[in-house]
Amino acid sequence: MANPLKVVIAGCSGRMGHALLEGVFSDVELVLHGALDRAENVHLGRDAGEQFGRVSGVRVVSDIDVALKDADVLVDFTRPEASMAYLAACQKYKVKMIIGTTGFSVEEKQVIEAAAKNIAIVFAPNMSVGVTLLINLVEQAARVLNEGYDIEVVEMHHRYKVDAPSGTALRLGEAAAQGLGQDLKDCAVYAREGVTGEREAGKIGFATMRGGDVVGDHTVVLAGIGERVELTHKASSRATFALGALRAAKYLAVKDSGLYDMRDVLGLR
Ligand code: NAD
Repeated sequence: MANPLKVVIAGCSGRMGHALLEGVFSDVELVLHGALDRAENVHLGRDAGEQFGRVSGVRVVSDIDVALKDADVLVDFTRPEASMAYLAACQKYKVKMIIGTTGFSVEEKQVIEAAAKNIAIVFAPNMSVGVTLLINLVEQAARVLNEGYDIEVVEMHHRYKVDAPSGTALRLGEAAAQGLGQDLKDCAVYAREGVTGEREAGKIGFATMRGGDVVGDHTVVLAGIGERVELTHKASSRATFALGALRAAKYLAVKDSGLYDMRDVLGLR
């Protein structure tokens, strides 16, 4: 068997960080090489496996230079400002990167695209196999129902989520726009309040719900006269995102540069 892939987990004390650590610990093809979190994080200096009752030999650090030394791939589920700093360091050390963080600006996405000329990156707002399939189905549905149908993207997440609409909802909106032969920025409607007037044809609407511990629900509605099609995905555990991200890390093992998404990882293109 080849040497296990040396993985660094960023945001290791977060909700996704936990799921990723569990995923790495239970995969013989992967080895935990580094664990990163903010300087003020309470787990700093402790063994990254402590919360799972195991000794990994890897301490949680905030110093990216320490964490990335001799690493193969960084898996990042944090916040955009952290991801941008990690991206710069990954380029410096030629470490591949899986970016699962959401909420990036257009400019930040352009920086990620440019960085992929130097290092291999998988960037996807949703790493689950089911959502990756849903993206394809939505594009196909929008292409077929491209006249006389109104498209709305509805999502619900837990009360702690800080960005809206979710990165996945935006990605589904992009897929729908692609199916319609449009650019999402020209047809998205992110908010409605008061006397909005009738719905304009060709727009893609978004609705956001937040509450409780919902891991992630997404529905794309294509509503016509006399019928509507609803395409839904419901995540019941973060393990689905973590397993997808770690599968993406293995996919990058043989890539030197380039920007990929989960459709590449799953061979759905
Ligand atoms: P969380 O708040 O539980 O964890 C975030 C982690 O990042 C924490 O460990 C926190 O300390 C760390 N962090 C925050 N700001 C930082 C900074 N400035 N520098 C360094 N570390 C910092 O959040 P979560 O639920 O784990 O989600 C993390 C991100 O992943 C969010 O953007 C979320 O939308 C995204 N997400 C993506 C997918 C996907 O499949 N792509 C799935 C779930 C969540």
